[in-house]
Amino acid sequence: LSDRLTTVFSSLRSKGRLSESDINATAREIRVALLEADVALPVVKDFIAQIRERARGAEVSQALNPAQQVVKIVNDELINILGGETRRVRFAKRPPTVIMLAGLQGAGKTTLAGKLGRWLKSEGHAPLLVAADLQRPNAVQQLEVVGERAGVAVFAPEPGNGVGDPIEVARRSIEQARHAQHDVVVIDTAGRLGVDAEMMQQAADIRDAVEPDEILFVVDAMIGQDAVTTAQAFLDGVGFDGVVLTKLDGDARGGAALSVRHITGRPIMFASTGEKLEDFDVFHPDRMAGRILDMGDILTLIEQAEKAFDADQAAKMTTKFASGEDFTLDDFLEQMMMIRKLGPIGNLLGMLPGMGQMRDQVGNIDDKDLDRVAAIIRSMTPGERSAPKIINGSRRARIAKGSGVTVGEVGALVTRFFEAQKMMRQMAGGMGIPGMPGTRR
Ligand code: GDP
Ligand code: MG
Repeated sequence: LSDRLTTVFSSLRSKGRLSESDINATAREIRVALLEADVALPVVKDFIAQIRERARGAEVSQALNPAQQVVKIVNDELINILGGETRRVRFAKRPPTVIMLAGLQGAGKTTLAGKLGRWLKSEGHAPLLVAADLQRPNAVQQLEVVGERAGVAVFAPEPGNGVGDPIEVARRSIEQARHAQHDVVVIDTAGRLGVDAEMMQQAADIRDAVEPDEILFVVDAMIGQDAVTTAQAFLDGVGFDGVVLTKLDGDARGGAALSVRHITGRPIMFASTGEKLEDFDVFHPDRMAGRILDMGDILTLIEQAEKAFDADQAAKMTTKFASGEDFTLDDFLEQMMMIRKLGPIGNLLGMLPGMGQMRDQVGNIDDKDLDRVAAIIRSMTPGERSAPKIINGSRRARIAKGSGVTVGEVGALVTRFFEAQKMMRQMAGGMGIPGMPGTRR
C-alpha cells in the first residue's frame, strides 16, 4: 500500500491498544503452534504470558490487522529470546583456547568436534581434537576419522599416555597442544543415553582438569520435550556457556531451541544440519523463530506490509497533507507504482485494513492497466500533473496521442483521479471514510 495512504490512516486511527479478545484469539493459536513444535509445556506457558504482557502494551499497528500484529510480536519476541546474547567463541588471551563438548550419547558431539575443527581451521586456527570419550568402543576411532576428513590433528590415548583415563587424556592433550602449537583444543567427551551421575561426574572432572574457556552443551533438536530435563541436568552437573543444536536437518520444528534457551539462559551458538562436516553454521535466531512458529506465509505477508510502510516517507506526507498541499497526478502515479512493487496485489490489499475499498478508489490495478495509466500521466506536462483541472479537450487529445490511448481513456483517468483526490482531502480533513475499518468519523 502506498505510504501516503497509510499515513493518512495513521493520523486517523485512534492510538488504540490491541484488545484483549484480539490477543486471546491469537494466543490460542500460538500456543498450539509452540506445542506442535515440541516446546516444553512450562516454557510455552511462560512464553505466552510474556507475549500477552507485550501485546497488551502495544499500540495498534497501522499496517497490520490485530491477529497479524500478535503474530509479529510473537515472532519478534522469539527472535529476541533465541538471539539474545548471540556471540562467537571466546578465545583465550593465552592459547590454547579449550572448548569442551558435553551432552548425551548420540547428540552429535563427535561429529561436531570434526565440524568445529574444520570451521576453526578455515578461520585460521590450528585446532587439536581430543578423544576423551573412552566409554564407547569405537569412539576414539570415530574421532580419528572425522579429524582426518577435516584435515585436523587428533589427540588419542596411547599406551603410557592416559589409556583408560579420560581425565588424564584431557590433561595431557593440553600439554601436547602447547608443545605442538595448537591454539584451540576441542575435547570430545563421553555421553550416556540418559542423564547419569557417573557420566556427569566424569565430565565435571574433565572440566576441573582442563578449565575450559567454553563448555558447549550439544543437544539433538529431535529430543523435543526432554530438552528441558536434559539441559537442566547438564547445567547443574557440569555447567555450560553455550548450546549447539544438532540434527536440524530432520523434521523437528525446533521447540528444543526455545526450551533450552528459556530454561538455561545460555546462548545457542551453532547449528548442525547434517552428517557431513560442512553441514554446520552459526545459529540464526530468525530462521529458528520461523521454524518454530511455522507461519511462513503470514510472516512473509507481514514483512511485505511493513516494507510498504516507510516511516520517513510517512512523516513527509503527513506534513504535506496537514499543510493542505494538494494530492497531484504525480502522487497518484507514485501511489500505484508502490502498490505494484508490493507484489501479489490481491493478497496484500486484502490483508490491509480497508484496502479493498481503497483499491476500487484508486482504480482497478492490474499490471497492464497500470502501464497505461503511467503512460498517460507521463504524457502530461508538469503543469497538467499538478493541476489536472486545466486538462481540457485539446489537451486530452494531445495526451491521448502521446500515450497511444483513446481520448476517452484519458478522460476516464482524470475522472478517477478527481475521485481519489476528493477522498484524500476527506481523509486529510479527518472525516474518515464510511465503511473503512480503522478510520473514525
Ligand atoms: P555423540 O555420541 O554425541 O558423539 O554423537 P555422534 O557425533 O556420534 O553422532 C551420533 C549420530 O548422529 C551419528 O550417526 C551422526 O552421523 C549423526 N549426526 C550428528 N550430527 C548430525 C546432524 O546434524 N544431522 C544428522 N542428520 N545426523 C547427525
Ligand atoms: Mg561421540
